[in-house]
Amino acid sequence: MNTKIALITGASRGLGRTIALTLARHGFTIIVNYLSAQDKAEEVARTAGGSSCTIRADVGDSEQVTALAAEIEDRFGQLDVLVNNAGITADNILLRQTEEEWDRVIKTNLTGCFLITRSLSPLMIKTGGGHIINIASHSGIKGKAGQPAYSASKAGIIGLTLSSAEELAEYSIRVNAVMPGYLPTDMGSLSERAMNEARAKSLLKCLSSDQETADFIAYLVTTAHITGQVFSLDSRLF
Ligand code: NAP
Repeated sequence: MNTKIALITGASRGLGRTIALTLARHGFTIIVNYLSAQDKAEEVARTAGGSSCTIRADVGDSEQVTALAAEIEDRFGQLDVLVNNAGITADNILLRQTEEEWDRVIKTNLTGCFLITRSLSPLMIKTGGGHIINIASHSGIKGKAGQPAYSASKAGIIGLTLSSAEELAEYSIRVNAVMPGYLPTDMGSLSERAMNEARAKSLLKCLSSDQETADFIAYLVTTAHITGQVFSLDSRLF
């Protein structure tokens, strides 16, 4: 197989969709993972073109992730880029955050990133290495009132990125985290107040761009000497 293969989790909408279509323009065959938005995911795969395809899997479910990894190995026999992008929020103040909300967010955002990385790294190792990009967040290093579970999950992703980078370097797998700024996606639009606050805190008085984030990732996956880093693509100061 000549083209490079990229798996983007949560690529039916929002940032994942933009990353998928940007990598497709850079010549990648795209595997569009999604949870429930099948029509949207199929539209992304069609637009990406070539042998791009969709695979439904809940990233937080170990059996579904194992099946996804097996399908990728059977179908493509290689994986060059993995973007752990799937994510959710269940915002609430700490005193009201339920265990169900906490578990749901940690399971999708953090356990999902772990399960996908653990299941797909062996295929990358077998074919000589690759790039893993984990989507973290400003909330993971700065925290955010009203987002204890989300902030904890994103902080965890940073720790997981650094540990994976150390362990996987010997196999030529580079692992980096990217912290996008505030994006007006479905997730970002959930709270108009948070969106306005982010704009007000931005030095440039603007929200961030999913296309700029995707373009940065498209550059990062062309590099050979960058791993174990956490990149902020924000315009807010920490
Ligand atoms: P979004 O528009 O809500 O899209 C979320 C995507 O994740 C969808 O494709 C959804 O699939 C998928 N997904 C959710 N749960 C999943 C699961 N269990 N298994 C597989 N896929 C799942 O969110 P977004 O704003 O693009 O966010 C993308 C990433 O960027 C997230 O990790 C988020 O935390 C991070 N981020 C976002 C912002 C922001 O301001 N928006 C800022 C910093 C970081 P379905 O469509 O099938 O439901």
